Amino acid sequence: MLETLTQQPPDALLALIKLYADDPRADKIDLGVGVYRTGQGDTPVFGAIKAAEQRLLETQDSKAYLGPEGDMGFVRGLKPYVFGRDDPTLNNLLASGRIEGMQAPGGTGGVRLALGLARRAMVSRVWLGTPSWPNHAQILADLDLEARTFAHATAAGTVDMDALRGAIEAALPGDAIVLHGCCHNPTGIDYSPAQWDEVAERLAAKRLLPVLDLAYQGLGQGMDEDAGGVRRVLARVPEALVAYSCDKNFGLYRDRVGAFYVMAAEASELGVIMSTAYALARAAWSMPPDHGAAAVRIVLEDEGLTRQWQDELDTMRARMRQVRERLAAAGRVGTVDLAPVGAQNGLFSVLPLTTEQVLKLRSQHGIYMAASGRINVAGLTMGNIDKFIAALAAVIA
Ligand code: PMP
Repeated sequence: MLETLTQQPPDALLALIKLYADDPRADKIDLGVGVYRTGQGDTPVFGAIKAAEQRLLETQDSKAYLGPEGDMGFVRGLKPYVFGRDDPTLNNLLASGRIEGMQAPGGTGGVRLALGLARRAMVSRVWLGTPSWPNHAQILADLDLEARTFAHATAAGTVDMDALRGAIEAALPGDAIVLHGCCHNPTGIDYSPAQWDEVAERLAAKRLLPVLDLAYQGLGQGMDEDAGGVRRVLARVPEALVAYSCDKNFGLYRDRVGAFYVMAAEASELGVIMSTAYALARAAWSMPPDHGAAAVRIVLEDEGLTRQWQDELDTMRARMRQVRERLAAAGRVGTVDLAPVGAQNGLFSVLPLTTEQVLKLRSQHGIYMAASGRINVAGLTMGNIDKFIAALAAVIA
């Protein structure tokens, strides 16, 4: 029976990690894997998380099962960061009583739950701007949901609003649409507040179900700014699903920390909706891993640790902005204009390079990036950025 299975393509980014590790050149540069790096090239555990883990170690007195919803202190602690603190211009989202959530194994678990729930609610078609995080399409395919795509960005490195308008126009009421909350992966190209307002109006008018994927809050412009789009959509549409990841903004990648939230049309619907989400979780992973979410809860419950975490996040964001500004200042390098990179957000940008140029950067200069031209800007430092720009000029010439 198992002989009927066919070989699946290897994960290109994981293959790149191995190639990079095997490269003996001392001045090699890794722009592939999607984790934050300091100016020294490290991906350290946040100090606030270390302190919270210490506290957890000392105080945790049981590891008995929690339930499919996971650590609800964590889920509630994150809520004001995602949905705002009773801002009257946002229709008092939290005070409405229409939002409930649960823990999920990473942002991936949140996306999986959101799309699985949409399917249970009879959604059959899902709109997705491309390029996107590759797992979006894989999850849609695995759930037998029909993916309809539209261009996320223009060649000039801005949002392709015409393509998005066209997609919403072509969509049917009852379709869902996946939108990146901030720090779009892979392009770094986000909607402006005015563009979010327009998108929100159009989604509401067409009665589409927004699936908002917020995986990088705090890595773009700031915690509140990065949630601005999600909040603008939620203020206008009757119902929406949100997938959240703490794996980047708390540096918890391998601990798999995420959440799933739903905003229902009526508070009275939440019981049935969440019971469906619990059933989906039970059938998939039963319960989420506890440790990382418990550490995040401890950080969010403690003013001092919260401040320490936000300082650490501010430092990360400032470093990425500095790299982006430095790249943008280089302007046009051969055929590639680096200027738009300065206005983009988060870990990633896509450079318009051919596969041949990407491979030349790898073989001739020890610079590793995805074949698509996606770079992790946090792989660049003040120590290697000049080499990177010079190598770009050399392979493009
Ligand atoms: N959504 C997007 C857009 C992502 O880029 C990622 C992570 N690369 C995720 C969700 C999932 O994050 P996690 O590692 O928490 O599962």
